Amino acid sequence: MKRFLLPFIAALAAACTAKESVPGSWDMCPGPRSIELTDGSVAINPNKLKMKEIIDPTLGADLKPFQQEECYKLEVGPKGITLTAATETGLLRGRQTLQKALPEEGSRAELPAATVWDYPEFSYRAFMLDCGRHYFPVETIKEVLDIMAVHQMNEFHWHLSEDQGWRLEIKKYPRLTEVGSVRAGDPVPGQKGHNGVPHSGFYTQEEAREVVAYAAALGIEVIPEIDLPGHMKAALASYPELGCTGGPYEVACEWGVLDDVLCAGKEHTLEFVKDVLAEVMDIFPSRYIHLGGDECPKVRWEACPHCQAKIKELGLKADGKKTAEELLQSLFMDQASTFVEARGRRSIVWNDVLVDWSNDVVGAPSKNTVIAGWMRPVSTEIAVREGYDAIFCPVGHLYLSAADGNRLKGEAYFRRVFDAPVPEDVLGVEACLWTERVSEPDSLLWRMLPRMSAVSELQWNAPASRDYSSFLPRVKRMQALYTARNWEWNPAEE
Ligand SMILES: [Zn+2]
Repeated sequence: MKRFLLPFIAALAAACTAKESVPGSWDMCPGPRSIELTDGSVAINPNKLKMKEIIDPTLGADLKPFQQEECYKLEVGPKGITLTAATETGLLRGRQTLQKALPEEGSRAELPAATVWDYPEFSYRAFMLDCGRHYFPVETIKEVLDIMAVHQMNEFHWHLSEDQGWRLEIKKYPRLTEVGSVRAGDPVPGQKGHNGVPHSGFYTQEEAREVVAYAAALGIEVIPEIDLPGHMKAALASYPELGCTGGPYEVACEWGVLDDVLCAGKEHTLEFVKDVLAEVMDIFPSRYIHLGGDECPKVRWEACPHCQAKIKELGLKADGKKTAEELLQSLFMDQASTFVEARGRRSIVWNDVLVDWSNDVVGAPSKNTVIAGWMRPVSTEIAVREGYDAIFCPVGHLYLSAADGNRLKGEAYFRRVFDAPVPEDVLGVEACLWTERVSEPDSLLWRMLPRMSAVSELQWNAPASRDYSSFLPRVKRMQALYTARNWEWNPAEE
């Protein structure tokens, strides 16, 4: 069987004539849960794939419901190929595995005969793209979704609002995109001011729906994020009355955490939030809606007569751990969450709403809220301990954009992802790509690949079953796949 274990090399495949057989392989990421090699190999024409597909609702009946939904059995033998799944989504996952097992080039492949039995460890397997700092065209978003699908991911978290740009058309508030989607320039490292090169772009509702449909065909749900109440300077520039001071404001041309946030004291602000979320939920049928909740300085609220009047009206008092303004944010987020839940959705918030950098519990969002633990691995553990469904996405391991905390070159750059200490009882795992320093589609892909291979291992397989030595050859094969699909990837060698 040794020859079947050789890594597949795209260049070799390209050199083969149509009649020569190219070896396929079950080496891939994420690695299927069980691969039982049977006998010999099967000749397959990848261009004219013949396979029997069966929906059997009893398959995986003893698994957790979300696992059964995506489980599949793939039988490749002398009698042909049979793919069985309990649902259409399971068939999608099985087809993806078969596709990866076959060479990308050539019309004749030899695939080791095998029975593959597979299902995911976690129900939430996400990739987040920040389109606020830089806008990426719909074609790039589709490419990102294709990459996610290859890695069996099922949730695309789309970060659509930022200080530096509002990216989604909202019909009731047209200035959000007319004004809020354009900034005068990008900051220049080490210098004051910006480079004077305007940056703009937004998604029409029609385009957003197109993305939702494209993702759905790949078995991926699109989760929109409207980041509240901080990171809202683009909205403030569009509608200054939403801020504490009333402006004037400009769409931010600097990165970081900014003092100007939504005014939590004005009734109008909450109406705005509900109007926006209503349109967002009409566009995105996702189970989850991300409400942000991170990095909201309180300096404006402390000096704002509207916010202070609201604090007085609600009787909010500092309790030693939390200031009155922090309690005001909790209530503000709760109102947004309640609105989302009333429509049968669940809200996701960044862990700031529950736990801070000191690992102190600073809030008490409703227990139906999902907490995304981005600060430290322990932030997620605390959320689980407090009784929340939690998403593991710590900056030190799963921020694919963090060049300093997560090196971009050498084997270490994906080893750090692979070694992320995923707690066993989380809802799922998410990789995040923030785009302050990423403005081109190629550099986006270069940060994603091959690390998405490592991310997929964390998402699909149980923490206890991960094995780095078996992962490395599988990554090599995935790199050949990326090359064959013209996806720009980052060589592991320094
Ligand atoms: Zn205010």
